[in-house]
Amino acid sequence: MIAYFEHFVHENETDTYSRNDDAALLFTDKDIRGSIDYGSSTTSLAAKDFGGIHAAKPSAVVRPAGADDISRVVKFASRSGTLTVAASGNGHSINGQAMSDGGLVVDMRSMDSSIDVVRLHSGDVADVGGGALWEDVLRRCVLDYGLAPRSWTDYLRLTVGGTLSNAGVSGQAFRYGPQTANVTELEVVTGKGDTLICSESQNPELFFAVLGGLGQFGIITRARILLQPAPDMVRWMRVVYADFEEFTRDAESLLSLPEGEGSSFDYVEGFAFANSDDPVNGWPSVPLDPNQSFDPTQIPCSAGPVLYCLEVALHYRNVDRRSAVDMVVERLLGRLRYCEGLEYQVDVSYMQFLLRVQHAEQQAKANGIWDAPHPWLNLFVSKADIASFDRLVFKEILKHGVGGPMLVYPLLRSKYWRAVHSLSMMFNINSSARTTRWDDRTSVVLPPEGDIFYIVALLRFSLPHPKGPPVEEMISENREIVQTCIKSGLSLKLYLPHYTSEEEWKQHFGNKWTRFVERKARFDPMAILAPGQKIFSRRN
Ligand code: FAD
Repeated sequence: MIAYFEHFVHENETDTYSRNDDAALLFTDKDIRGSIDYGSSTTSLAAKDFGGIHAAKPSAVVRPAGADDISRVVKFASRSGTLTVAASGNGHSINGQAMSDGGLVVDMRSMDSSIDVVRLHSGDVADVGGGALWEDVLRRCVLDYGLAPRSWTDYLRLTVGGTLSNAGVSGQAFRYGPQTANVTELEVVTGKGDTLICSESQNPELFFAVLGGLGQFGIITRARILLQPAPDMVRWMRVVYADFEEFTRDAESLLSLPEGEGSSFDYVEGFAFANSDDPVNGWPSVPLDPNQSFDPTQIPCSAGPVLYCLEVALHYRNVDRRSAVDMVVERLLGRLRYCEGLEYQVDVSYMQFLLRVQHAEQQAKANGIWDAPHPWLNLFVSKADIASFDRLVFKEILKHGVGGPMLVYPLLRSKYWRAVHSLSMMFNINSSARTTRWDDRTSVVLPPEGDIFYIVALLRFSLPHPKGPPVEEMISENREIVQTCIKSGLSLKLYLPHYTSEEEWKQHFGNKWTRFVERKARFDPMAILAPGQKIFSRRN
């Protein structure tokens, strides 16, 4: 079913691609307020991404000054008959999704990325440029206003438009949904070059199409993001399990705790790791602080080749007494059945917690791992099949690890809100309601069944070959994982998907395919946008 990974392209092959250079040359700096760069060094840079597996060189890179420039670029491409346009966020895709072979790449980072906090009746929001980095959104909102978005990704050097085009998932998503569930309004330049404001009530079809839309329907030039008061501090904790069933039971039980100060954790994630002393894949990957160590004598004799770590966090304020925080933590951890003696805690500031991956980034940059290929595999797996996934994949194919984190944690598709406000209590109105966190109207694709599903992220960080494994080997292991799951009838969907044929995309979208195609015909009828996703071919 899945011819999953297309041919692997070496860097020096990029020059052999066909070009639209002549067509692109007709578009000049004079046509926009920003600038356009045909230089080989710039276009070569735009031919690469974090994945380091695919390469496709554009004819030019456009640095727009605003949405009006992007509209001009799209209209120009439309008239050319052949050119495509790819918005590029921070180039953190894995499989060339933000590339345009011979077309125009729009460098969203160069656009005005001002971050304005607005206090509305309905609550505080941030109006943010589509090319802004989440890291900058964090700094501006927390440092200047004491506010913060509710839903994050683990790593914040990603752009707002880039993650909203996928979903944007981290340990807060169990409560607030993905980042796509935390925006109320977008400004979008469609594939026809129209600049439209959209929301649940204004141009809703475009709004929901664009969220998780893989860049297919429009370029997000601005997003209105829901904010909440930022905590000062975070108690960050990890506890270890030898048994997958206990790990998932506990993780799932945390999702349904009532929301409210001290009633539940504010962040729930987890990962699988090798039951070995391997410095990257094994026990040393668990402690949160260099002063902590992993005591393998605490691992039960029944443990298999893989162990599991539940990672949770509790927000608190500077004024909260430490003893009160300790009490809440003790009560919440007390419900869990992890291996005694294998628990870790640190207190960090809220900013340090959200920027926690930066340290790993610095290390990876220093030792060459950041610039090596990253054939990552991200999946959504149904709850019904996650135990089989553990048995077939973690305990067999990946029992020695992937050279980086193997995240696995549950997410809630929707959730019930109990009657909490006083009016409904007073009048005995049952105000419990089902709130959809993963709105089916968006373009995000999930396994079809169940309220709980799991995200599995196999984040390979290896040294470049020959010090690390050849990239083909890692790609073929990913293929083996997907094919093993499919053969065993597991229900899963790729997150940050990558396919190369219409048949595979149809399978991926399932019963959402027709709607996806209709939306494409409506908002980008010439298939100009995001050609690197390889879903539709340019029409003329
Ligand atoms: P790009 O890779 O540049 O673009 C992605 C796609 O969106 C392309 O098709 C592009 O054309 C399109 N696009 C870009 N900008 C816009 C725009 N403004 N409007 C419309 N379309 C646009 N994801 C998670 O959910 N959770 C995580 O915790 C997480 N952690 C990550 C950690 C690392 C180190 C990396 C490399 C990636 C991680 N991701 C995570 C994946 C990330 O969400 C995707 O890579 C995403 O594409 C964002 O990257 P980007 O901003 O560089 O977008």
